[in-house]
Amino acid sequence: MIIDSHVHFGNSSDWGNFSPEYLMSIIEDVDYAVCSNLNGINSPASLFKDETECNLEMSEAAKKYPKLKPLAVCQPNITEDSSALRKLLESYSEFVGLKIHPEYMRLPADSDKYNKYLGLAREFKKPCLYHSGHIKSRFSSPVLIYKKAREFPDVPIILGHLSTGPRECHIQAIELLLDAIENGRANLYTDVSWIDFAYERINDTMEDTLMLIERLRKTKKGDQTHRILWGSDAPVGAFNHTRESYSKNLDIFRQRVWERFKDETLLENLLSGNARRLYGF
Ligand SMILES: [Zn+2]
Repeated sequence: MIIDSHVHFGNSSDWGNFSPEYLMSIIEDVDYAVCSNLNGINSPASLFKDETECNLEMSEAAKKYPKLKPLAVCQPNITEDSSALRKLLESYSEFVGLKIHPEYMRLPADSDKYNKYLGLAREFKKPCLYHSGHIKSRFSSPVLIYKKAREFPDVPIILGHLSTGPRECHIQAIELLLDAIENGRANLYTDVSWIDFAYERINDTMEDTLMLIERLRKTKKGDQTHRILWGSDAPVGAFNHTRESYSKNLDIFRQRVWERFKDETLLENLLSGNARRLYGF
């Protein structure tokens, strides 16, 4: 089974206009995909939808394509409080988690404006998928996300992309993960989207992804690789634009993990088991 824990549809001013149908054509080999709607994240102003609108659109798409497991986009930069999101979570139980993009909101990840949303995540037991940006980003640095995650240690926080940028960012983000795990300070997870696909060029060796797995295999708290999820960010990024390229990337991931660790269970968990257990589906 394959679960992609990070996909989108919708209009992105930076990346393109992706219909749910187009997304479905790319992820044909996937059994489930955890999805959020770009129309509430970074669409052009004329197409931008507020929290409720964009999440209802997400819910409609998931009804049409049950393969999609919806995440509720959060807009704490715009809203007064989290009451609209509370209503949504109460009425639409299909939402498996929350999606938070501090970079596009231009709202630093350690801002108190997130507190009510993370409070809802705690109350409704929903993991939060963050865009985890460059280690030096003043909005979405994993350092800032970790700071906030420590205030909500019982909420699973996923560092989407681990951290963008070069290897140095990945190394530092892994140190944060280890600090959270070994000192029990926060409940951090990560997905592998973009780690070795930066700058539109696939790093076939997948060295940074393998480094992440290796480090989490041998922590002071034992094997913590259940905190790593397969994710692509499809259709965002040219390498995610066709079913063929998606399958190729998936194959490379499988191959590299197998060559390095020769561990069927590990591979299966990275590709689906970890996401299934985290999201409970
Ligand atoms: Zn994304």
